[in-house]
Amino acid sequence: MNCRVCDSSNLDRVVDLGSQPWCNHFLRPEEVGTEPFYPLHLVYCLNCATAQLDYTVKKEIMFGDHTYLSGVTKSLSGHFRHVAMEADARFLSTTQVKSVLDIGSNDGTQLKHFQDLGYGVLGVESSKGTAALANAAGIPTLNEFFDLALARRLARKFDLINAAGVFFHLEELHSVTEGIREALKDDGVFVVQFLYMKSIMENVAFDQIYHEHLLYYNLQTIQRLLELHGLAMFDCYLAPIHGGSIIGFVTHAGRQEPSARMQEMLCAEAAERSNDIATYRAFYRRIRQMKQDNLAYLSAARQAGKTIFGFGAPVKGNTMLNYFGVGTDFIDCLVEKNTMRKGLYSPGMHIPVVIEDELNEPPNIYYVLAWNFKTEILKNNRQLLDRGVEFYFPVNPKEAGE
Ligand SMILES: [Zn+2]
Repeated sequence: MNCRVCDSSNLDRVVDLGSQPWCNHFLRPEEVGTEPFYPLHLVYCLNCATAQLDYTVKKEIMFGDHTYLSGVTKSLSGHFRHVAMEADARFLSTTQVKSVLDIGSNDGTQLKHFQDLGYGVLGVESSKGTAALANAAGIPTLNEFFDLALARRLARKFDLINAAGVFFHLEELHSVTEGIREALKDDGVFVVQFLYMKSIMENVAFDQIYHEHLLYYNLQTIQRLLELHGLAMFDCYLAPIHGGSIIGFVTHAGRQEPSARMQEMLCAEAAERSNDIATYRAFYRRIRQMKQDNLAYLSAARQAGKTIFGFGAPVKGNTMLNYFGVGTDFIDCLVEKNTMRKGLYSPGMHIPVVIEDELNEPPNIYYVLAWNFKTEILKNNRQLLDRGVEFYFPVNPKEAGE
């Protein structure tokens, strides 16, 4: 394959996580053992430095019916509210009639906050069930994939366009980016939110690598993509969401001066060689070390007769469990709030999901797969901690956060 951004064929494999099932599809009992496996490799483009997967699971398989609901966790909804208020206060406080388009709008959590601020809102969501939920909640949502053709069909332009955590999903990257330019008013702002590869590498949060995430950006690399389509990021900051995400503000090229804080972050990327292949290779060495350390920890705990449950059944947890080879010989079950996963099994390692309310006794150890909610988890489980239940975090983000 060629680079998804610059089309160069000069790609080098930097991380090999083996073959893995599509991690977002938790299995019904009759599906256990029948799930297909796909290569999960991170490659680095020697021309433009963008890290990406070299294999694409078809988007119709991945996004037809995903079960992730953004409204489920409180801190995520709080984050979306913050983003809406910030964008409105900074760019549209004096505008009377204002509009926002959300790409990958999920259950409408983000748009609800804009609606509360008086915006005309439109969501585009590829999952049928999720789009239906949003429409039922009064958030107008198209059940489609966003691309240039759809942007043209809409035939309207927006003051704001938001895309949270979809910009690395996109199979038709260039068509989508072009569609954003098409649908953005001349003075409009595109708010892009994406996992920051620099943070992923610093935290060894390699579980963020999975088939849905086709691309892994730093500031330098996403700028390059945006420039190809006449867009430019002019400001950004790092938020603790998902263990380290960039909230970036983008507009048509040449309209805004780059902010001082964005320039500083770009300088930090250069100083820390965040876009060098050597940094990616070092990241892979640390992943392999982490596997050894975690297996040693889990084996010792099991030999000491301790019970271990997984805390949360996030999709990213499957990358880790599958790469480590951790199944029911170590972890009895994955304890989850989201009742949509009730009675299902984790893809690959086949660990049963148990809903939190149904649990009689806590384990000796919670192996925390939803580590990005560390603060919230420790706060909500003080009673268990007091009773001596250990919470083990395989990943410890630098800025423990939401
Ligand atoms: Zn490239």
